Amino acid sequence: SIEEIEDKPEDLKSRAPIVTVMGHVDHGKTSLLDYIRQENVIAGESGGITQHIGAYGVELENGQKIAFLDTPGHEAFTAMRARGAQVTDIAIVVAAADDDIMPQTKEAISHAQAAGVPIVFAINKIDKPDANPEKIKEGLAQMNLLVEDWGGKIQSHDISAKMGTGVKELLEKVLLEAELLELKANPNKPAVGTVVEAFLDKGRGYVSTILVQAGTLKVGDYVLAGKNSGKVKAMHDERGNDVVSAGPSTPVSILGLDGAPQAGDKFNVFEDEREAKQIASKRAQLQREQSVRTQRH
Ligand code: GDP
Repeated sequence: SIEEIEDKPEDLKSRAPIVTVMGHVDHGKTSLLDYIRQENVIAGESGGITQHIGAYGVELENGQKIAFLDTPGHEAFTAMRARGAQVTDIAIVVAAADDDIMPQTKEAISHAQAAGVPIVFAINKIDKPDANPEKIKEGLAQMNLLVEDWGGKIQSHDISAKMGTGVKELLEKVLLEAELLELKANPNKPAVGTVVEAFLDKGRGYVSTILVQAGTLKVGDYVLAGKNSGKVKAMHDERGNDVVSAGPSTPVSILGLDGAPQAGDKFNVFEDEREAKQIASKRAQLQREQSVRTQRH
């Protein structure tokens, strides 16, 4: 069945935080995500992350992990929320130190607040001669957002996404914030999670990136995602490596669904392939009926 069974406290294990980067256009969201992606080197693996699959995981020197949604901007965040998906644990709000607090900075803040997601500020572009990070912090204080240097509780760090300055410390602050959240999930059950993106690849068929939120997804599992279903034929991580199982807070791209589910669709694993298929086709039918109805109006 699709209902989730409640976990016993002893089954819960700590999991990595899932982070979204938001902020005003041109303030450096993509640069920050790119820097983190390129610089991360998991033990025994040289080189950064080459594939863009909509989400990636990084491991810091101390072995702690963070999962990033690699879709900068709050459009993806709000689109997912509109579909009922709450994926993000922590929001990094990027604000350029050579600019003011801009409308989309404010929007990003209010989206995170509305979702009850803690914010860590990344005051960016401090390598620029006209950068004035204190001005940003003052602006935040005027919005009743007191960062730590201003006597408040909100974490912020001055960075240069371009040079990489302060990025490591920023991620340490994200992990500190994550510790307070005591994020946990049960890895020992069928996987549940959310679709991040999906597309049709000419050679490989439908490729869906999903974020496992609880349980463990395995190759061979029957998956229902939105109005699509199928047996997981293969899974890959953001480095293009084959993966046989993916636990909580792990993004993976999977092959085997019969179509492309939408970003924000929930996915579940079913024991029975037919049951997954039936629910998927029922949903597809409902959607067709709905679109016929809207066309008539
Ligand atoms: P986004 O729209 O928020 O994703 O912003 P981008 O990451 O695309 O950055 C916008 C522009 O600012 C690009 O030209 C970047 O090279 C530049 N930029 C981003 N971060 C920094 C930084 O730390 N220092 C400097 N000097 N430029 C930056």
